[in-house]
Amino acid sequence: MNRPPAADDLVANHAAALAAAPAGSGTAPQTTSGAGRLLLVDDDLLLRSMAAGTLRHAGFEVVEADSGEQALVDFGGSSFDLVLLDVVMGGADGFEICRRLRAMPQPQPVPIVMLTGLNDSDTIAQAYEAGASDFITKPIQWALLPQRVRYGLRVSAASAAAVRSRESLVRAQRLAHMGNWEFSLQGAMRCSDELARIFGAPADAMQCASPQMFLSRVCAADRERVAEARAAAMQGQPYQLSFSIERFDGSERIVAEHAVPLCDGLGRQIGVEGITQDITERVEAERQIRQLALHDGLTGLPNRQFFLELAAPTMERARRAGALCAVLHLDVDDFKTVNDALGRASGDMLLRIVAERLEQGTRGSDITSVGAAARAAEVVARIGANAFTMMLYDIGHPENAASAAARLIRLLQRPISMQGRPVVLGASVGIALYPRDGQTAPELAAHAEQALYAAKKAGRSQHRYYDEAMNVAARERLARESELRVAIAHDQLRLHFQPKIDSGSGLIVGVEALVRWMHPERGMIPPASFIPLAEETGLIHPLTDWVFNAACETLAAWTRAGLRVVPVSVNMASPCFRTAGLVERLSTLVSRHGLQPSMLALEVTESILMDDNEQAASRLHALRELGFKLSLDDFGTGFSSLSYVKRFPIDELKIDRSFVQDLAAGGKDLALVASIVTLGRLLGLVVVAEGVETEGQAAALIAQGCSVHQGFLYARPVSADALAGRLRHGAPAHGRETPAR
Ligand code: C2E
Ligand code: CA
Ligand code: CA
Repeated sequence: MNRPPAADDLVANHAAALAAAPAGSGTAPQTTSGAGRLLLVDDDLLLRSMAAGTLRHAGFEVVEADSGEQALVDFGGSSFDLVLLDVVMGGADGFEICRRLRAMPQPQPVPIVMLTGLNDSDTIAQAYEAGASDFITKPIQWALLPQRVRYGLRVSAASAAAVRSRESLVRAQRLAHMGNWEFSLQGAMRCSDELARIFGAPADAMQCASPQMFLSRVCAADRERVAEARAAAMQGQPYQLSFSIERFDGSERIVAEHAVPLCDGLGRQIGVEGITQDITERVEAERQIRQLALHDGLTGLPNRQFFLELAAPTMERARRAGALCAVLHLDVDDFKTVNDALGRASGDMLLRIVAERLEQGTRGSDITSVGAAARAAEVVARIGANAFTMMLYDIGHPENAASAAARLIRLLQRPISMQGRPVVLGASVGIALYPRDGQTAPELAAHAEQALYAAKKAGRSQHRYYDEAMNVAARERLARESELRVAIAHDQLRLHFQPKIDSGSGLIVGVEALVRWMHPERGMIPPASFIPLAEETGLIHPLTDWVFNAACETLAAWTRAGLRVVPVSVNMASPCFRTAGLVERLSTLVSRHGLQPSMLALEVTESILMDDNEQAASRLHALRELGFKLSLDDFGTGFSSLSYVKRFPIDELKIDRSFVQDLAAGGKDLALVASIVTLGRLLGLVVVAEGVETEGQAAALIAQGCSVHQGFLYARPVSADALAGRLRHGAPAHGRETPAR
């Protein structure tokens, strides 16, 4: 029960308090009206007056209300820093009034201190539930009352400041797209709302946020790096990183994160705290600025500055790999005339088409040594109104730069339809080679440009090397290349045939087709002098087609002449074996000539088996299934191992001439030949010895169990007609020829 204290006690106690307390002492926490403006609510006149007097004496401005209802009216009408509210009153009690005061809209919560004679835990709980900030029990200690009020005001001010600062932090975080978080060493995680927003996380997902979940949103490419940094932070190592995250809606953002160890008051690490900021827009803006600064606006190609930046690491890579590179400086001939005639807009469009063609023509070039990595290292840049520069990586052979230049010039010459009429552009190219013509990108670019002037001087659509000696070599090679092109197209090639003899029976068991070039002036040119050039320039493809066709024609002619026809072996250069549609083309060819595929054997080298196993294997199997014979040429000179031979469907091994040469003398080669023969027998392959020149070699081979021989001892390569005589039915391979030289 609320027992009213004895009036005398109250008064005595009160007088002492007033005497002790200096008037107006204490600091005003927040209002303009002295120590603070209070609303004092009590229906007991005596108590209210004493309390009001005490508080006024202490410097507070006090408004008195004699009922709860009055308090509601006063509270709604003006602003207070604190309310002192009696619990037991006639009418609505203090709890009810407290609740109603709390329900009234306020710029910020005003502390409400309940005055109660009841200090049981039930009453206290009820007071807090109703929204009270604190309570003072009766009988009131008058000396303490102003202190309690001041304390209440200070707490309220501090909590208001805390709320304000948290709110401004939230606003700042939102403005900066920055969230903060902390992990405890035990793996618990806390984070701000803005962090959740950055991750696009649904409210419940962040409730159970954990370091693992936080890490799982980091994009796979960055995850390991971030995990390592965070683990190191757990050991006290701060970090700053930027990386990509995947938001909950699947979109990607780029964030910057800064984390430091989190310590307790004694300086012991208890976790890690950090901030994570969404910097996507900034990064994108930087990218755009960089794009603008380093690229040509019209074509989107790198500009001169960027070209030099890109070329430097490419050259460094080439230096380490010992690769040969070329810088091509291309200038569109008479562009000004075209531009003036068609107008600027069309001129711009033409330049864009030129840029596209150059990019296409540089990538996927037909330079045989160019692989995917080299292509990735290539750069095309626009460095002047109608000038472009290209960096070609690992071109294999210096002459390939000229081939590339010629190809690019041809590409640009393809007519472009502009305003309904075809426009044909010409271009000149200057070439500088790395490392021979310069060690740095600017030096090479300058030399390529210098070479361009020489090309321009030579006339339209020309290309020139910086180094004059290269120009001479290139001219020669170009001349030979075009001669060879003519040779293939105009029937200057011939096939000779060299028999493979079964030394036991003396019968011809097959022939190898070997190509020759009947040059109108220089006479017969052996294949070793032009096959490498054909391979470098891509002419090997039409050449091989010619050989296959000629071999089939010969076979068909021998059949028609009623000869004892034997299979013809054709040499297959590796690039030809790799062309698409090979299997179909060959089977069409044999059927066109009315031949069985088994009449053709393809001689391939070990390099085919080495490069891309799956494709090579499936192609060999397809050919074998159709009935073509497969022969492994120059066996022993490459990298073939037993496993290769076992894996691929081979019919024949040809022991390279180098092993046969000093066979008669015994020694290492004898052992090698013996093992090849054994291998062949085990795998059921025919083993043929190449380059057999002497009786001694033949005898040594027979002794090792190798009976099929090919070489000058038996026959030199001869024309189809010359061989026809030896293919008469039943005719033995007459005697043996005199060994060569
Ligand atoms: P290969 O495939 O190893 O052909 C055998 C070469 O050895 C032929 O030279 C042949 O004349 C020569 N030879 C044969 N018996 C003897 C001998 O007892 N002693 C000596 N010293 N040499 C002998 P050839 O015709 O000059 O051909 C050279 C190479 O050119 C061939 O080597 C082959 O790799 C290539 N080749 C020839 N014709 C073609 C062809 O049509 N296409 C392709 N891709 N390459 C071909
Ligand atoms: Ca061969
Ligand atoms: Ca050979």
